[in-house]
Amino acid sequence: LLTLQNKHDIPVNICANAQVKIEKNAVQELCELLELAESVQNIQKQDKSFFDTPPQINQIAITPDFHKGRGVPIGTVMQTQGFVSPQAIGKDVNCGIRFYTTDLCPNKIRENFGKLSQQIRHVFFEGGRQIPMNRTQRESIFKEGLLGLLNTHKIANDKGLWQYYRAQKQEQELNRVNENGSLITEHIFALQDFLGKKELSYDDQIGSIGGGNHFVEVQKVKKIYDNKTAYAWGVKKDQVVVMIHTGCVSIGYPTGTFFSKIAQEIYPKKLPYPHNKIFILPQSEKYQKYWNFFWASLYNAANFAFANRLFLGLMLEKCMHEALGSANFDLVYDTGHNIVNEMDGYFIHRKGANPARGVEQMVNTPFAYYGEPVMIPGSMGSSSFLMCGKGQQKILSSASHGAGRSLSRGQAVRHEEKQFREFMEKFKIITPVDPTRQDLKSRPDILKKWEEEIKKEAPYAYKDISGVIDSQVQADMVNKVAELQPIFTIKG
Ligand code: 5GP
Ligand code: MN
Ligand code: MN
Repeated sequence: LLTLQNKHDIPVNICANAQVKIEKNAVQELCELLELAESVQNIQKQDKSFFDTPPQINQIAITPDFHKGRGVPIGTVMQTQGFVSPQAIGKDVNCGIRFYTTDLCPNKIRENFGKLSQQIRHVFFEGGRQIPMNRTQRESIFKEGLLGLLNTHKIANDKGLWQYYRAQKQEQELNRVNENGSLITEHIFALQDFLGKKELSYDDQIGSIGGGNHFVEVQKVKKIYDNKTAYAWGVKKDQVVVMIHTGCVSIGYPTGTFFSKIAQEIYPKKLPYPHNKIFILPQSEKYQKYWNFFWASLYNAANFAFANRLFLGLMLEKCMHEALGSANFDLVYDTGHNIVNEMDGYFIHRKGANPARGVEQMVNTPFAYYGEPVMIPGSMGSSSFLMCGKGQQKILSSASHGAGRSLSRGQAVRHEEKQFREFMEKFKIITPVDPTRQDLKSRPDILKKWEEEIKKEAPYAYKDISGVIDSQVQADMVNKVAELQPIFTIKG
């Protein structure tokens, strides 16, 4: 752990080692973020009633997958008091990972891959999703997340994908989701377009992977590092496990727009905007209404992301069931890495950073003896890791949420062809476009675009995962539980 000295005297701790190069541009962006500390104090000097609690950035932690974001770098955890900043959680509210163990072995998947991939393409990309919902259910998801699903699942009465939603199991698994996957609010903001019809109709939002670095990946447990914890979490060597990485997809845009609208509405007109156009929302009685708007809207999007990941899990379970005869998934954990939480009057903002709490912070959860499960994906052509949190205070009980990019998307597209071919030989990817389709033979434009999209996410576009993992073990942030290897990856 390095401490970055700065003129604002904010404790800034960075986790890195010789294998993990920290991008200069991202450090520059971090330095600019620190100026926000001064901006908020200037606002307070000029408008005494804007904040109730003196606004402050108390601490910043930087994870080793740190890279440039827009305004606030990815891999930043920021603890504030007196205010929150929506940009410090990113646009994809509650983007995160859901991780399951299964009762399957890798050979069964490999032997049936043709049939399975056909099923997957149908269910994930070709309209075979079939999740009937009515307006009441959609409202319940936005207001109560997974608890809302549980309370309203009977409306659809086992139709379509609901066959695979077993209420009793879902109820038991609630405590394996951070915040029970249910951030309760009475209001819905900015999401009128997503409430759909009053009567049952297929929902086309929920169950979307989203593009880019989001994925549903079927993996094999390659190596166990911590037998006791792996055993407790039901993770065994050579078992098939499932990692789902997505967020609130299309909900992110209206929600983000709403955040910036309310922040601009209350911002003192005479004052210059905070540094770097980073907008803030004050905790104050005067603006209580807007403060409540913010949290309700944040919860709406976060709840949707929890439900979205749950449905993606059911979709894959259904595909496996149909292609392999049977399949049973058990949830290990689900948590977001783009969110802000209140804790003892402080606000912990995470922008692409996993929570990694230790045993003391996990009392009354199934993880009280082990620490919080931390899922760190590598790439679709390298290992991913299951870790457990150690509650490292210096890094705000956090860990990286991935390997982090080493090449920009543009650079990755222009990267040498040989490495790309090798990767494509070795790994299986299922995408909305099926490149083996006969009618695409005459459409080189579509095939080129398809290839470019994959190149952007190819393993060489990401940092070496082992350095990223080791630096965090050395810094006493997390311990290794298991190493996971991709069997195939579904990209949105
Ligand atoms: P992000 O939340 O920043 O969008 O992505 C998190 C991390 O996921 C990336 O830093 C990268 O290490 C990892 N990642 C991106 N695509 C894939 C994939 O297809 N499979 C796996 N296992 N990891 C991925
Ligand atoms: Mn995301
Ligand atoms: Mn993410």
